[in-house]
Amino acid sequence: MTIASTNPATNETVETFQPMVKDEVVQAIAAASDAFRSWRQTAFEERTAKLMLFAKLLRSNAETYTRLITQEMGKRLSESHYEVEYCANIAEFYAQGAEKFLADHPMDVENVNAYLHYEPLGVLLGVMPWNFPFYQVVRFATPNIMAGNTVMVKHASNVPRCAKAIEELFHQCGLPAGVYTNLFIPSEFVESIVSDSRVQGVSLTGSEPAGAAVAAIAGKNLKRSVLELGGNDAFIVLDDADLESTIQLAVQGRTVNAGQSCVASKRFIVVEAIAKPFLSGFKQKMEELKLGDPMEEETTLAPLSTENAAVSLLEQVQSAINAGATVVTGGDRPDRKGAYFNPTILTDITPEMPTFDQELFGPVASVFVVKDEAAAIKLANHSSYGLGGSVFTSDVERGRRVAEQIETGMVFVNQPTKSQAELPFGGIKNSGYGRELSHLGILEFVNKKLIHLG
Ligand code: NDP
Repeated sequence: MTIASTNPATNETVETFQPMVKDEVVQAIAAASDAFRSWRQTAFEERTAKLMLFAKLLRSNAETYTRLITQEMGKRLSESHYEVEYCANIAEFYAQGAEKFLADHPMDVENVNAYLHYEPLGVLLGVMPWNFPFYQVVRFATPNIMAGNTVMVKHASNVPRCAKAIEELFHQCGLPAGVYTNLFIPSEFVESIVSDSRVQGVSLTGSEPAGAAVAAIAGKNLKRSVLELGGNDAFIVLDDADLESTIQLAVQGRTVNAGQSCVASKRFIVVEAIAKPFLSGFKQKMEELKLGDPMEEETTLAPLSTENAAVSLLEQVQSAINAGATVVTGGDRPDRKGAYFNPTILTDITPEMPTFDQELFGPVASVFVVKDEAAAIKLANHSSYGLGGSVFTSDVERGRRVAEQIETGMVFVNQPTKSQAELPFGGIKNSGYGRELSHLGILEFVNKKLIHLG
């Protein structure tokens, strides 16, 4: 197994890393378990001070991390910069809010004097993806560290330099050894870690197969798990939507992070009254995107994260075309070195085609034309995924009614789904379970202990 950092803009390998051997992993678990005994006793003020410093260090070194992210997984510089700043926000949100979120909670029951007391569980494992290489880790690690747990992270094998930089940051902010540990390991090691009696839970963000594999291991070992998996978010355009802003947001929603986001807008479900002008405007704006080197400011569409990702996406698109889908624009890769993929719009995708229920992780939009609002809701819910989604209408009350009928964990009216430290994030169906961010995110891996005083 190679752990290599390869620049997807050039397909050149920048650095390789030696994976850990089993003995080193066993030692890391022991260190995390030892660290837990003292870390759980620390006062909130101490944890807060360290994570506030973590946020400060992120901000003061934002330029370095921005370039690192772009070089390692290919997103545009402005997107990498946003990610670093957002991570600082998340760290501050939990640094400042944890004590309040974990305060004893009195039970409002007649003739009973009882309360919930929140306690950390122990060592946790995070299995993280490459698409937001800082954000995904920070979203998992900061609430759990504030809660008094200790965390180990197996990051995706194509972002080792980010993985290392994050671990260094956690050490620089003064966390004792063992509170945060980066594991350079192949995914086959995950089973032995989760089944270790000192490890209390696992959180995975990634694909459905990876989630199912890790959830099975967690289930077999009776460990808690949180899964944030793929999505196939609907972007519903109703007849009264403001066309210009909706088209603008459709392009943004589909091409954020070069389309490699679980909550990117993927299925554009448009009522027929507005379908023609929507599709023509959407096509024009997708074609105006400037595909190019993510280090260049004028680039508006970056390469995918790896050459393999671009090859797999092309296979998915070709399989849809072979099955009868129509290419409105794109559908192929440009003739240049690097993991590039042309902005693409497909129509005529039917439920019989495998692509219909697949997550297309890149700048490929599927457009569906439906008769009316009811048909749009029905089609939006015709998915094995249930992560996010959005509804576009000039009538917010109508948007609310539609949103309540969408079977997902999050629905946004008049904007693509997005993440914010203060708001819960997560899905239902094959998109996983559990919630991250907000006050809910810190309650996933704590013992909600009942204390009954009579
Ligand atoms: P994976 O789900 O394979 O990778 C995510 C993480 O899970 C990585 O750390 C990976 O390790 C690990 N992993 C993979 N398989 C297992 C396993 N059986 N047991 C334990 N850990 C495992 O994502 P890919 O990079 O392969 O992307 C494939 C697709 O997944 C994308 O096209 C997209 O559809 C979806 N995806 C969704 C994401 C989201 O944000 N929800 C993020 C990334 C991908 P390693 O890198 O060593 O294989």
